[in-house]
Amino acid sequence: MNLHKLIFTQNACYKAGRTIAPKGIMVHSTGANNPNLKRYVGPDDGLLGKNQYNNHWNQDKPDGRQVCVHGFIGKLADGSIATYQTLPWNWRGWHGGSGTKGSVNDTHISFEICEDGLTDADYFAAVYKEAIELCAYLCKEYKLDPLADGVIIGHYEGYKPGIASNHADPGHWFPKHGKSMDTFRADVSKLLTANEADQPTTPTSSNEETIWNFLSGKGLNAYAVAGVMGNLYAESALKPANLQNSYEKSLGYTDDSYTAAVDNGSYTNFVKDSVGYGLAQWTFWSRKQALLDFARAAGKSIGDLNTQLDFLWKELQEYTAVFATLKAATSVKQASDAILTGYEKPADQSDAVKTKRAGYGQGYYDKYAEADVPTPVPTKSVDQLANEVIRGDWGNGADRKNRLTAAGYDYAEVQARVNEILSGKTSTSTAVTYTVVKGDTLWGIAAKKLGSGARYPEIKSLNGLSSDIIYAGQKLKLPAK
Ligand SMILES: [Zn+2]
Repeated sequence: MNLHKLIFTQNACYKAGRTIAPKGIMVHSTGANNPNLKRYVGPDDGLLGKNQYNNHWNQDKPDGRQVCVHGFIGKLADGSIATYQTLPWNWRGWHGGSGTKGSVNDTHISFEICEDGLTDADYFAAVYKEAIELCAYLCKEYKLDPLADGVIIGHYEGYKPGIASNHADPGHWFPKHGKSMDTFRADVSKLLTANEADQPTTPTSSNEETIWNFLSGKGLNAYAVAGVMGNLYAESALKPANLQNSYEKSLGYTDDSYTAAVDNGSYTNFVKDSVGYGLAQWTFWSRKQALLDFARAAGKSIGDLNTQLDFLWKELQEYTAVFATLKAATSVKQASDAILTGYEKPADQSDAVKTKRAGYGQGYYDKYAEADVPTPVPTKSVDQLANEVIRGDWGNGADRKNRLTAAGYDYAEVQARVNEILSGKTSTSTAVTYTVVKGDTLWGIAAKKLGSGARYPEIKSLNGLSSDIIYAGQKLKLPAK
């Protein structure tokens, strides 16, 4: 599944903010010949493409109607298929109307599949597969049985039991390609079972939390952190002293004895032995030389976790294209693919390898990122946004304010920085920010970043927090240490 997130914060349904305990999923299709996601999902995030009519559903009443679903499946600007989450999954959507027995809106998560002319078999196969993956994901998340009565239903199946309006979707489409809601439910069930069979692959390592916190602390969003970690797991199982397994025998070393021999100088061929070592399995001589120099300069073991993380971070910034993708990542897969093809560059970069590494990354994402952050997680710095505003990317006046707010940014903060830059103040002393990860507390952050937990009220006041509640993905300004 190619899952992205763009929450419809401007839609009256989102603003209503009512929540449900999801009991099922209702499948819709749009009923209009327009397979492009940008028709419904906006504003453009760089992948969707621009909707010139601006009639997407991220507005108070799309097309004058009170409608909102939790997701859309359709085409990105480049023609590839994606899923966009557009409401937190446990928000109450406005999608199925009601019947004599109540409303499906109170119980079911909903998504629309963008219809095309209904005759393209390739398009159908792609969105059908994407929809199955989405439903399997949601069934796992909310512990739903896809085969149980009334759990996964097409809109047209909601009328008879009296929980939805009388619509035909998607029953007018699936049979044209030999499918039905029955095959759909069976396919979701099959995928869930298959996923469970190879579930033990969700890797655990004592280092994973340290690595997650390190990368999050550098300001990468959760997609990017997960994408990096999935690759590191594939390379080294997150073990910094990992010596490439196939060479252990020929060199006569274990992970630990190799590390010790490099550290004490008895093994002198570290740089030129062409053997992968460490978190990222650094192999090429110039990178191993740089790692060795870096560790020596820091007075640390070549196998030290934090030293390798510092080195990794330094390297990543030098891979400018990869780094730019990470900074703006909107999915785990996107970040993972960028690391695989632009940074790790192993011989095998096949789709199977991409899927596998992104899968490891997703495991970390599921474990450490909050599942339902109620607003989109902003990924750009205030300075970056201010420069984009000045360049004209965000429009003017109320339009600028709406668009920045919809994308999850603090308009006033960005505008203040714009004014500062335009007035010629060149101060670059932007405050240090910290991205909250699961399990964090204000006390813990103050202890870690300011040297004393007792300083947590300073963080609260600097960020205007009225309570001690923080959530994963939240960016906090930190006072000077
Ligand atoms: Zn419908």
